[in-house]
Amino acid sequence: MLPIVFGLIAGAATLLGMWLVLAKEAWSRRNSVYLIAFSIGILLAASFTEIIPEAIELHPQALLIVLGTFFVFYVLEHSVVAHHHHLASDEERGTSDERHVPIEKMAFAGLAVHSLVDGLAIGAGFEVSPALGILTTLAVILHEVPEGITTLSLFLHANYPRQRAVLFTAIVALATPVGAIVTTFVPALRSAAMLGVLLAVAGGSFLYVAAADLIPETHRARHIPAILLMLLGILVPLAVERFL
Ligand SMILES: [Zn+2]
Ligand SMILES: [Zn+2]
Repeated sequence: MLPIVFGLIAGAATLLGMWLVLAKEAWSRRNSVYLIAFSIGILLAASFTEIIPEAIELHPQALLIVLGTFFVFYVLEHSVVAHHHHLASDEERGTSDERHVPIEKMAFAGLAVHSLVDGLAIGAGFEVSPALGILTTLAVILHEVPEGITTLSLFLHANYPRQRAVLFTAIVALATPVGAIVTTFVPALRSAAMLGVLLAVAGGSFLYVAAADLIPETHRARHIPAILLMLLGILVPLAVERFL
């Protein structure tokens, strides 16, 4: 049951990000960079020190799966990432009223797949050990708030009507508990080899999200706080490993 609870909390974190945009868009986009910097540290350190090594132990082809996942995420999120840069420059120039290319269904699929993998990662983490479960959950929850902010901003800036933008973001948020529920209730996913595959996919997606989606966002943050927060994030998985 624990993975489902944490999956729901992670989904709620996306909704929190969404709510922040609805309440105070400029403020949340400006300040989320610090949470982003912290969550990058956790995502990278959790992947490199815990999730991927565990995946390699469980599945001989784990590193190939990490690489494949990284590539698939690039394909899925290509149009989203293109728009990320776009949003950043919109804000600098203050010309958010320009017309944008509508978000492709592909991009929406990319966001939903990403959230689903977040949920699978939580489920697989808890199957392996409570410590790994808590670590993956932490890595997911902290980046879900900025992700909710980004997702809703993307739909709004692509001139989707507010209600539809909220609906799409909620669907993306829901994919995380669905992933956690699937891992908990499908016994076939809980064999050692399959857990290795799931953790390798989680590792590949965490690395992609940290390096390709989140790191570029931090370039608009003040340097020293961003660097220190990322470093602090890197220390979290090391501390979790030591004390749990
Ligand atoms: Zn834009
Ligand atoms: Zn995520």
